[in-house]
Amino acid sequence: MDLRSEKKQIYIDKEALAVLEMLQEGILSPVLSLMDKDQGEEVMKSGMFEGVSFPSPLIFSPNGKKNLEVITHLQKGEEVQLCLGSKRVGRLWVENIFKIDREERIRRIVGGDLGHQDCARVSQRVGEYGISGSFSVEGSGIIPQNKRRILEKIKELDAKRVCGVMLNVNPIHMVHEKILQEALLKHDLLVVFVPHHNEWFLPFSLRFKSLEYVINHFLPSHKIVIAPLEYTYLLSGSNRMILNALICKNYGCTDFIASLGSSDLSTFVEGDRTCTIIDSIQGVDLSIQLMSEYVYCKMCNTIKSTKICPHGKHQHISYDSKNFFEMLKLGLMPPEIFMRKEVSAMILTYLFPNQARRLNKLYSDLITHEGIVHDEEENFYEALSRLYHVK
Ligand SMILES: [Zn+2]
Repeated sequence: MDLRSEKKQIYIDKEALAVLEMLQEGILSPVLSLMDKDQGEEVMKSGMFEGVSFPSPLIFSPNGKKNLEVITHLQKGEEVQLCLGSKRVGRLWVENIFKIDREERIRRIVGGDLGHQDCARVSQRVGEYGISGSFSVEGSGIIPQNKRRILEKIKELDAKRVCGVMLNVNPIHMVHEKILQEALLKHDLLVVFVPHHNEWFLPFSLRFKSLEYVINHFLPSHKIVIAPLEYTYLLSGSNRMILNALICKNYGCTDFIASLGSSDLSTFVEGDRTCTIIDSIQGVDLSIQLMSEYVYCKMCNTIKSTKICPHGKHQHISYDSKNFFEMLKLGLMPPEIFMRKEVSAMILTYLFPNQARRLNKLYSDLITHEGIVHDEEENFYEALSRLYHVK
């Protein structure tokens, strides 16, 4: 093989590939290509791109020693291969190479706070040089698939008001369900975006499966599309909300719902008014609604919006997925007012494989001649939860 004809290679990771695929598919429109130095500086200054809020410059700046060596020797017009591990996933035609202010770039990606939990992840990925130029990549194919499914549904339902909502469902609880119900009341179609992220407590497949279960059994599933989203460091910190809104818009949504309980809203006070990052979004042709925070009120004995419950905070229990997950990790089933028993059952089965069989032996000895497990393990937990109601 003639090595001189071998193209140089730049190594990227899955998250960078996801960003490139988003760009290629127009999901971050009006940003449709990698920014060059001037465009990047303009976004740094104004937080806008072509009249639309855009939180941080979209610059291709792969990190790593090998990459640095390659990047500093690239020529204008040169074609490089983009590789994910040993796999070639795309090509890039170099237009310009420019030095970037790494620290400032990291700060902008996480939304200004260098102490943010996402900082380390972002820092690993940002290199010292930016490369602009056209490119083509072969990504996971999730985006074209989502676009097709959403468009088909819009046509099928003749949907005029399409609402997007981002949910990690990690795990899905009753307030999530409440948010989906409210959204369905006001819109013809609901698109639930679920980020593909495996560093969270529950794997994507289980989060997806439990959401699908709730939608198929307790909501009008024909009016809902679940759209997986590739997770990327671009969606870090408080910038996430702005980009989420943009992503919804570009997938064809007319409305976007953000929950006031979300930590991504970065609440701040302006004069005597409490504002969130949503208030600062400009130029995105999308109706953005802020849903009030829901809690369980011990006095009302139900799920209530904090806006209309007359009882004080000390009567409220907030819905925090992390707490429910901690309970499940201890083998405890959260009460049904927090999480559906079917969902708890799925998660317990995942956390304690084979446990149901052992417990069933105990129960069959103690309570019944037949036992309460018949086929699948998940049924055991559901059967057990029914026994809690027996007096
Ligand atoms: Zn109350």
